Amino acid sequence: MGNEKATHPSSAMHRRTQHAKTKIVATVGPACQSPDLLRKMVTTGVTIFRLNFAHGVNDEKTERVSDIRNIADELGTPVAILGDLGGPKIRLGELPNGMVEVESSTRYAFVREADPGDLTTFTTTYEGLINDLQLESRILLADGAVSLRVIEKDKDKVVCNVVQAGLVRSGQGVNIPDIELRVPSITDKDRIDIQWMLAHGIDLIGLSFVRSGNDIRELRRIIEKYKPVQKPRIVAKIEKPEAVKRLNEIVAEADAIMVARGDLGVEVDIVRVPGIQKEIIRTCNRHGVPVITATQMLDSMERNRMPTRAEASDVANAVLDGTDAVMLSGETAIGAYPLEAVRMMANIVTEVEPLVQSREELPIEGSLGNAALQTTRAIALCAMHAAKQLDAHRIVVVTRSGKTALAVSGLRNAMPVLALTESSETARWLCIAWGVSAVVTDACEGTPQRLIAFIEDWGRQTHALEQGDRVVLVGASDWEKTEKDLLLVHTIT
Ligand code: PEP
Repeated sequence: MGNEKATHPSSAMHRRTQHAKTKIVATVGPACQSPDLLRKMVTTGVTIFRLNFAHGVNDEKTERVSDIRNIADELGTPVAILGDLGGPKIRLGELPNGMVEVESSTRYAFVREADPGDLTTFTTTYEGLINDLQLESRILLADGAVSLRVIEKDKDKVVCNVVQAGLVRSGQGVNIPDIELRVPSITDKDRIDIQWMLAHGIDLIGLSFVRSGNDIRELRRIIEKYKPVQKPRIVAKIEKPEAVKRLNEIVAEADAIMVARGDLGVEVDIVRVPGIQKEIIRTCNRHGVPVITATQMLDSMERNRMPTRAEASDVANAVLDGTDAVMLSGETAIGAYPLEAVRMMANIVTEVEPLVQSREELPIEGSLGNAALQTTRAIALCAMHAAKQLDAHRIVVVTRSGKTALAVSGLRNAMPVLALTESSETARWLCIAWGVSAVVTDACEGTPQRLIAFIEDWGRQTHALEQGDRVVLVGASDWEKTEKDLLLVHTIT
């Protein structure tokens, strides 16, 4: 695994520290396969690569994982990999000639067995659909562009009239927003993919179509069962109305959250998406849980070199809402301008970051309110105040699990935060944390003098610190076997 005990960041790492505070997640796909392009994406601002398990075969992903690990090693910077499970997405079965024009004057039926050549019947990948559907249930096809309503039901079929006509294609998603389906949260394919992810040391697992905290506990149980060397963090994707209702429960259970606006915008009325985005981000901020805002952020850059004004504003507004990370999907996976999209995203977030308000007054909730984390937050607040008062150049956080670094990140400091950790796993986890750049070093377990020597050295090597600059050093550590939370101020010699 990459980044083991790097004693010094490379000069590329320094360039990284100059990057945006908002983290950028880029989806890997046919448009960005080459190691050279992936490397440029990292030096332009990507800190997390997303592998989408709804598409492609796992063999191809093996090569991408190894390329990404090599690039991270070569650049001396942590890069995380997010494996996004396909989840229980229901899809249309095969249609005659791959597509059907759904017309308003016709009735359509969902049946158990396909009747080849019949243009008015559909099958799906979910066997229980006919049982679960009720009279009046809405069925959305083609990302919500086509909509049907159930008007008759018997044990082998449901008949629907058409509310919104349009073209549907084989394999497209089927969304049933009004009822809680009995489809399992983690499918058989997901289980195979989870095993693959654990074997390949994936850092973050994206759980699609989460409906309750139980779904996350179930994934944790599966992970535990395999006793992996590295336990991946769980990113719960909020894209179902049930998840919006149970937001607090899900945020308390997950390691991170994704505002998955693609399916969310089909499952709930699209006009509610901006408000729900803000509610999700606010809840995550209050719980101290990192959050990624995803989907269609720079959508038109799949085809054009420049985004629309509305897209640029969308990215900037997500940062102002308090997102930790912004995500590119089709833009980098299948778009014509993957690198330009990363550059544009990095430029937009960097421009707006000085407007981000400090959040020291934000009320805290959930697990962040527990005693241990209250201490961590209090220490983080002290560090921030000291750094402001002393006009320091950096807050340096010594962090084992990443908690102290996340607490400092949550305060949305204007000052850059350098996280020092002895764990390469923690360094990759912090790839999601706003404003934090992480360096792996075994100096964390040494004396404070050794740590200070490391920081002096790091500052010189990367040209990030000059003589006379002050750094505020904070963190829980085993320094001199005392297991104490420490805060100290050092002036670079
Ligand atoms: C989404 O729906 O916004 C999303 C990120 O999930 P996927 O791309 O897997 O559909």
